[in-house]
Amino acid sequence: MKSYRIELNPNEVYGVDDWMGVLRQRCPDIHRDRLVVLKRSLDARGSRPKVGVWVTDSRSPEALAAMGKPYEPLQVSENAPVLHIMGAGPAGIFAALRCLERGWRPVLWERGQSVRERRRDVALLSRDGRLNPESNYCYGEGGAGTFSDGKLYTRATKRGDVASALRLLVTLGAPDHIMYDAHPHIGTNKLPGLIEKARETILAYGGVFHFNSRVVDLDYAQGRIRALVMAEGQRIPVEALMLCTGHSARDVFGMLQRAGLEIQAKPLAMGVRIEHPQEWVNQWRYRQPESVMAAWPPASYSVVEQVGGRGVYSFCMCPGGIMAPCATSPDGVVTNGWSPSKRNNRTANSGWVTEVNLQDIPNARADDPLALLRFQERIEAKAAEMGGGDQRAPAQNLSDFVRSVPTHDLGDCSYRPGTKASSLYQLYPQDIQDRLRTGLIQWAQRWPRLCSEGAVVVGPESRTSSPVRVPRDPVTLHHPACSNLYPVGEGAGYAGGIMSAILDAWRSVDALCSP
Ligand SMILES: Cc1cc2nc3c(=O)[nH]c(=O)nc-3n(C[C@H](O)[C@H](O)[C@H](O)COP(=O)(O)OP(=O)(O)OC[C@H]3O[C@@H](n4cnc5c(N)ncnc54)[C@H](O)[C@@H]3O)c2cc1C
Repeated sequence: MKSYRIELNPNEVYGVDDWMGVLRQRCPDIHRDRLVVLKRSLDARGSRPKVGVWVTDSRSPEALAAMGKPYEPLQVSENAPVLHIMGAGPAGIFAALRCLERGWRPVLWERGQSVRERRRDVALLSRDGRLNPESNYCYGEGGAGTFSDGKLYTRATKRGDVASALRLLVTLGAPDHIMYDAHPHIGTNKLPGLIEKARETILAYGGVFHFNSRVVDLDYAQGRIRALVMAEGQRIPVEALMLCTGHSARDVFGMLQRAGLEIQAKPLAMGVRIEHPQEWVNQWRYRQPESVMAAWPPASYSVVEQVGGRGVYSFCMCPGGIMAPCATSPDGVVTNGWSPSKRNNRTANSGWVTEVNLQDIPNARADDPLALLRFQERIEAKAAEMGGGDQRAPAQNLSDFVRSVPTHDLGDCSYRPGTKASSLYQLYPQDIQDRLRTGLIQWAQRWPRLCSEGAVVVGPESRTSSPVRVPRDPVTLHHPACSNLYPVGEGAGYAGGIMSAILDAWRSVDALCSP
């Protein structure tokens, strides 16, 4: 049974009714009903972009592996063991789905609203800059992944069964092509429906959801969490607890410290978010006339520069995307980006970030687990001050940012609460700013249009990953000092994105449920 790669012209794949028909003609040696696409990748390198397609016969081992396993939940009984899950982001929801396959009953506690109500809060935030601290781009059903680009790729393929995770997402309503696209994404318009379907599945098989239910403390004694303490004062006894609270919930780190449970400072990447007309990115990446690439997917980029031995890189690039206000308190400003499934907005945005560790922070104590978190908080507060309130973000023309001069005539930008022309180059300490700036200068040598008129920079991009790690035993995956507390996903420092959060949640549930 054959498995091989063929090349197609992008115009044979995108914007055509039946690209599989074209593919079948090119692969006459594989029976048309058994042709399976393992991977599809648009390669923009070389003189002319091409689409590499890896194909095989559905009976081959590769086809079976690429298909993943089907999702097979069990109806849980009243007396099934219960896993309490704090946080209904990708980690919490997929931990709950996995519990059902293992015969455990998941009970989810989510501080924010259900996805439908949350959508209203997010719209108000974008329109008026009114931030609901419990229901926003980071908090609420689906977590930080709900109103995102829904990019699903991960470098963490060794960490778990990506194919089965993608297959489950398709079962929940994601498009089939995420199974084989090299850089799969779902889009903000499709994610809420998928999250609702996940909730319906969890409820149908015996799981429980509590929205608007913020955990404010953990009752910990003698190596075990005994109960959750809720904002309204109830005490919920627990046998096992999964902490899936994401990296924005700073109060959760406080809870762990009050309980006397160890947490550690973790380096993270911070920087700014840059925006360009999507058309420029297409021209740079594809190098073809508009008419030729009209139906091609909006181009993306992934750029890494080295400055003085430190990495500076693009992060979470959103082709055809919109910049989003992602703070969780009114006295901070945080930027990120999203895009719809078609990625058909006129602008493209991306984080431009560099690693920040304890040595980068003036006066940071090496033994302070919250030193990086406090630095992050200070930068977000300074940005709010520079932006002038109501979630307006400080912004500059990229050319001025790079020259370290004030901007007087700020270009347009998709960040909806609004921007204020500010000296954004003064947001970070000098060393960090120098790295961001030098990295851009180096990149501009390959893309001269990078810093030209029409390119804007907004800040900060400060929540790329968690500034704290919650330690866990490498085998049992529970906290070393607490046998029924499982730190999971991005907030605990074990994931950096939707897919890695899902895989980490599955791994943790498997560790908990294994005999
Ligand atoms: C705008 C935006 C775009 C993004 N785009 C992408 C992308 O395209 N691809 C990608 O891979 N990643 C993207 N990300 C990052 C991705 O969303 C996160 O990596 C992922 O959601 C982490 O999953 P998680 O479940 O670990 O945490 P989270 O998604 O942060 O979920 C944590 C949940 O816990 C809840 N919670 C917190 N504290 C408490 C408490 N005390 N009590 C009860 N509940 C609590 C929160 O309300 C939240 O719902 C994006 C993020 C944002 C904000």
